[in-house]
Amino acid sequence: MFNGRVLVITGAGVSAESGIPTFRGKDGYWRNWDPAKLATPTAFQNDPDLVWEWYRERRKQLRAAQPNPAHEAIARLAATAEEFLLVTQNVDDLHARAKWEGTDLLPEKMVQIHGDIFVTRCSGCEFSRRDLREDEKEIPKCPDCGALMRPGVVWFGEQLDSREIERVEGYLHQGPCDAVIVAGTTALFGYIVEWAVRAVGESGRLIEINPEETPLSQFATEQIREPAGVALPGLVTSIVSDSSR
Ligand code: NAD
Ligand code: ZN
Repeated sequence: MFNGRVLVITGAGVSAESGIPTFRGKDGYWRNWDPAKLATPTAFQNDPDLVWEWYRERRKQLRAAQPNPAHEAIARLAATAEEFLLVTQNVDDLHARAKWEGTDLLPEKMVQIHGDIFVTRCSGCEFSRRDLREDEKEIPKCPDCGALMRPGVVWFGEQLDSREIERVEGYLHQGPCDAVIVAGTTALFGYIVEWAVRAVGESGRLIEINPEETPLSQFATEQIREPAGVALPGLVTSIVSDSSR
């Protein structure tokens, strides 16, 4: 047991070692398409077939992928820390599927701030469902209102879900964190840097794990320039054993 309060923030880099491409990395392109041009409401309006094709391919790739040691280390920290929240920008389900000694990372300990790729929701009404197994070949239509359905993710230029923001804010309001770990994100969204900096207490650690420098680096008390799957297991072991002295 770690008698402390922890916030972990992750991005696409944490799933890279599971074979899932990042958006901005050199392998992160699909048929020479820039994801920033596909993951937008305008792209969906102009060419829903193309956008769905891309999401179906990503879903398929994810169904075949497995969590890596980074996801497992985070599941361990979640199971061990007295207070824990994971805020992930990842829309995949690899955090949710990672286990520590048979224990899943519980949904109440995780906020998917950019949504869930396996959710299909109506673009016209509130209807939504989870498509975990297989996808239709056609663009899905809403069984309630007939409008086109879309992936349940937050696209570039869209608002975050206010209920999910509330969950993050609620955790931050409860008090400063002993450790804030930010792994595998370019930290290009202002709220990511802001949450990380605000969460860490005066004597707390702000640890960045990323092979490259990011806008967050200047605020980090420790920078680990290694892949997440390499760095996180050891870091979590040291946090957990430190507190049991
Ligand atoms: P990004 O693609 O912009 O950047 C990836 C970051 O990870 C980079 O800073 C890179 O240096 C770092 N990185 C690469 N390999 C790493 C590794 N092995 N270990 C640690 N770090 C590594 O990702 P982002 O900042 O998360 O923002 C992109 C947006 O795209 C997010 O909104 C996210 O929802 C979405 N996205 C999600 C997934 C997913 O769910 N797996 C994949 C791609 C993009
Ligand atoms: Zn509908």
